[in-house]
Amino acid sequence: MKWQGGRRGGVEDRRGMGGPGMIGGGGVVVVILALVGYYVFGIDPQTVVNGLESIQGSQSQQQASVGTPKDEAGQFVEVVHTSANDTWTALFQAQGKTYSPSTVVLYDNATGTGCGTGQAAMGPFYCPADQRVYIDLSFWTTLDQQLGAKGDYARAYVIAHEVGHHVQNQLGITDYVQQQERRVSRSAANALSVRLELQADCYAGVWAYQSNLKMNWLEAGDIEEAIGAASAVGDDTLQEASQGRVVPDSFTHGSAADRVKWFKTGFANGDPRQCDTFGA
Ligand SMILES: [Zn+2]
Repeated sequence: MKWQGGRRGGVEDRRGMGGPGMIGGGGVVVVILALVGYYVFGIDPQTVVNGLESIQGSQSQQQASVGTPKDEAGQFVEVVHTSANDTWTALFQAQGKTYSPSTVVLYDNATGTGCGTGQAAMGPFYCPADQRVYIDLSFWTTLDQQLGAKGDYARAYVIAHEVGHHVQNQLGITDYVQQQERRVSRSAANALSVRLELQADCYAGVWAYQSNLKMNWLEAGDIEEAIGAASAVGDDTLQEASQGRVVPDSFTHGSAADRVKWFKTGFANGDPRQCDTFGA
């Protein structure tokens, strides 16, 4: 991806600030997060629990001013995230709607968020409560080495997927799904979560199409890298790696094939109306 000429809209850079400390019962939270990290990304829970020792400071939410990072890794996230916001600003405008851009936060190890303590082992995530995308850049090593998804566009897909969750939040889809999930059985709630995740994949494909139309920055192999990442983070792939078998009822992100299918749907013509994973 020829990203260097892209617009740089800033990041909230909390790297080197130290993480939040633990309040009573925080250890339990970290263990749960560690298990989530293991389940979703195949990270050894022990590494997270050991990370407890290094967490210091206050539980209050940290804030850093939004600025432009000096390092290339930070600038890459900045450019892709800015491009995703620019894409959705234009798409909302075309429908007579107003889009409020997300903020991306770079952090090390742990940080306070509107959704509780963010932990590196959780992988990148979006917090609807504070409308921020959180990324610890060590995830790129996990993506490359443990999940086998290589290349800059694998990373771009991940960032665009998280911004896709912000789009869902802006459209009221996140709230709607959360309300529905409280009313239905666990397996039905999982099925709704899968549709939410697949729609974020489709939105990542929409960004890939629209941003390339504007920037012409795709290089040979980029789309294959995104597809490789979508496949690598599919629940069946991860479950096979961790349990040796696939349990469809507990899928919350979607199978590798479905994730690839929906990314490709979004990328086919860049039309977000094609991303109705709930009606499909
Ligand atoms: Zn997601």
